[in-house]
Amino acid sequence: MEDLSGRLLKNLTGIQNRIRAACLRAHRAPESVALIGVTKYARLDWVTELIKLGCRELAESRTQQLAERAELLSPDLHWHFIGPLQRNKVRRTIQYSHLIHSLDSEKLLKTIDRIAAESDLKPRVLIEVNLSGEANKKGFQKAELLQLWPSLCQVTHVQINGLMTMAPHVDDPEAARPVFRELSELRDTLQAISPEQTRLQELSMGMSGDFEVAIEEGATLVRVGSALFAGLEA
Ligand SMILES: *Cc1c(COP(=O)(O)O)cnc(C)c1O
Repeated sequence: MEDLSGRLLKNLTGIQNRIRAACLRAHRAPESVALIGVTKYARLDWVTELIKLGCRELAESRTQQLAERAELLSPDLHWHFIGPLQRNKVRRTIQYSHLIHSLDSEKLLKTIDRIAAESDLKPRVLIEVNLSGEANKKGFQKAELLQLWPSLCQVTHVQINGLMTMAPHVDDPEAARPVFRELSELRDTLQAISPEQTRLQELSMGMSGDFEVAIEEGATLVRVGSALFAGLEA
C-alpha cells in the first residue's frame, strides 16, 4: 500500500505543479483550473487512494461504473461523466453526475431536459465540439452548433455551462493548441449570442498529453487519466 500511495502522490504532485506552472505562464490564477481525475481504467483501490490524497473531482466514461462508484464512495465527491451517453441511460447518469461533458446531439439534450423535468433535477452539461474534423470523434461540428444554438438554449431544466473538446491524438502537444484556441473563441462567440441565464464559464479541454497547452489557451477543467495512474499497472 505504501508503494501505491507514494507513487500516486508523486504523480499527483507532479501534475499539480505542472498545472500551476502553466497558469503562471498564462497569467491565470491556479484556482481557475480544476484537475479532474479520470478513473475509467483505474482499479477501485487506486481511486480510494487518490481520494485520500485530496482529489475530489473524478470522471467516468460509462454509466454503470459511474453509478457503482458514486454509490460506494464518499457522497461529497464530484463525479463527471465524459463518455458517450446513451439515451436509455440518461436517467441514471444525471442522478450521479455533477457535470456531463459529452453532450453531443440536440436529441440527447432534449431527452435530458425532459427527464430532468420529470425528476425535478437541474443537470449541468458541456457541449462537446468536434473541431479536429476527425470522423470518428463525437460532438457537434462548429457550423452545426452555431446554427442550432438558439434552439439548444431553449432547454428549461438543463444548464449549459460551457464547451468540451478532444484534440487529435498527436505526439507534439503544440499541435493541439489551435484546436484549444478555437474552442475558446467559439465559447466567446456563443456567449455573445446566448440568453442572459446561459453562462458558458467552463472549457473542458486537455488530457494527459496536452493539458498544459490547454491551460495556456483557457481550459478551466483538465481531464487527466493515464498520467495520474502511470506506473501503477498491476
Ligand atoms: C480517457 C479520457 C480522458 C483521459 O485521457 P488520458 O490521456 O488518459 O489522460 C480524458 N477525456 C476523455 C473524454 C476520455 O475519454
